[in-house]
Amino acid sequence: MIGKPPCRRCLLAETDAAHIAETVQKRIAQMPEEERTAPAEYARRLSQCRACDMLTDGLCGVCGCYAELRAAKAKQHCPDCVPRW
Ligand code: SF4
Repeated sequence: MIGKPPCRRCLLAETDAAHIAETVQKRIAQMPEEERTAPAEYARRLSQCRACDMLTDGLCGVCGCYAELRAAKAKQHCPDCVPRW
């Protein structure tokens, strides 16, 4: 179980960004190993996200996911029309 869910009534401006980053990292750590992207591929995906205009404050502007969380799931893909990974 993941623990206390994030507040659904808070705007980002009212939220502790460090808390969000910590929550995302916890969720990644809790994913089964076999579902997680291999480290080299994970780094490659995040480098693509960093260079992408759709990335804002860690969120993908196409799907609304936290990019780090999406990239950590091996079966996921970049949701853009022309996927970057
Ligand atoms: S997942 Fe794709 S569209 Fe979203 S920020 Fe990363 S590279 Fe950009």
